[in-house]
Amino acid sequence: MKVRGRFAPTPSGRLHLGNARTALLAWTQVRRLGGVFVLRVEDVDPVRCRPALESDQLEDLRWLGIDWDEGPDLGGRFGPYRQSERGEIYAEAAARLSTFPCSCTRRELRASGGGPYAGTCAERPAQPHRPLALRWDPGPACTRFEDACAGVVEERVKETVGACVVRRTDGVWSYQLAVAVDDLRMEMTHILRGADLLDSTARQLAIMEALSPSTPASTDHGARPRYAHVPVIHGPDGRKLSKRHGAPDLTALREGGADPTRVVAFLARSMGMLTHDVRSARPQDLVSTFRLEDVARAPRALDPELLEEFREFAPARPPSP
Ligand code: GLU
Repeated sequence: MKVRGRFAPTPSGRLHLGNARTALLAWTQVRRLGGVFVLRVEDVDPVRCRPALESDQLEDLRWLGIDWDEGPDLGGRFGPYRQSERGEIYAEAAARLSTFPCSCTRRELRASGGGPYAGTCAERPAQPHRPLALRWDPGPACTRFEDACAGVVEERVKETVGACVVRRTDGVWSYQLAVAVDDLRMEMTHILRGADLLDSTARQLAIMEALSPSTPASTDHGARPRYAHVPVIHGPDGRKLSKRHGAPDLTALREGGADPTRVVAFLARSMGMLTHDVRSARPQDLVSTFRLEDVARAPRALDPELLEEFREFAPARPPSP
């Protein structure tokens, strides 16, 4: 089976170093395995996404030296590669799931105390005069997978989330449905992404399996994707790296004239992929020695020395107070 992996940014903000680190890892893993790397734009939510941010994000990735074989600019067999253009594909998938309309109001949902969906609308006719969402009933099965970083995960989606929203009241397909359908239809075999998405994985796999005609442990193209939820980069204070730590976003770095080989070396060293003395690297330089096991063990927190060095080469103004 052909190895296929992806990077799937949401154009709702600029890419930051954490996104760049994940993109670099996903790219390196796929290149190491000789696979196909896909760039998918996750702009399913028109309220949050802007086309100008998409072009900045793609430009930032190219600037770092990350390339892709299929994407919105290149096309490919599994297109379109923008979620905003895949509405019919999501509608066709949702029609094959066992769904029910849901007219619960926010207040009714809050009454369940943030726990799993209580199933109110599964048992009553939805109130037609209210805006309707569409929910999918995941059934009682337990979803089990082995994550390369987090180990074995077992989850009964019905108990943790309950019936999941697949289409919101404003008609927008849910992020969970879109990602699951895309990873299935685009025949992804390797999904490497930030640890913050580990919680969504059982739900996404359960959707894929409900859509897939073959055995529960597989998807239509053969085996299930293999997941690796890599540590999200933190500042020395243990919080997710952001402007607060003086870390500029990628567009600011690129437009400010930073050297992309220093950014790549910095990111690689933050994961122990390069030794401390290497100050310049291209993504290509990381491919031959890449080992997912090493990355899984990489520390989350950036040491202060590394951050200090980064501040020196990054032509960024200090964050405003
Ligand atoms: N679009 C998501 C994000 O930007 C990533 C989704 C995924 O990799 O599955 O956080």
